[in-house]
Amino acid sequence: MAFQKQKQQQRRTDPRLKQCPFCEHGAKYIDYKDYPAMKPYIDYFGNIRKRYYTGVCLKHQKMLKTAIERARFMAMIAYRK
Ligand SMILES: [Zn+2]
Repeated sequence: MAFQKQKQQQRRTDPRLKQCPFCEHGAKYIDYKDYPAMKPYIDYFGNIRKRYYTGVCLKHQKMLKTAIERARFMAMIAYRK
């Protein structure tokens, strides 16, 4: 039991693990008008980058997806290059 607890604590403080950049700032909402915030999560071809690549958590990835889709609909971001 003690070993398990120690292991959990080790995992939490592992520097190799990526922290979600939105969780770090406590973002509750990602604005579709905020292009600089979304830019690092869109690749050259206009696709949304994968979660395992950027380290964004599931909650914020869903928010990001909604924001990017809204921005595309409003013609602020290209659907495809
Ligand atoms: Zn997050």
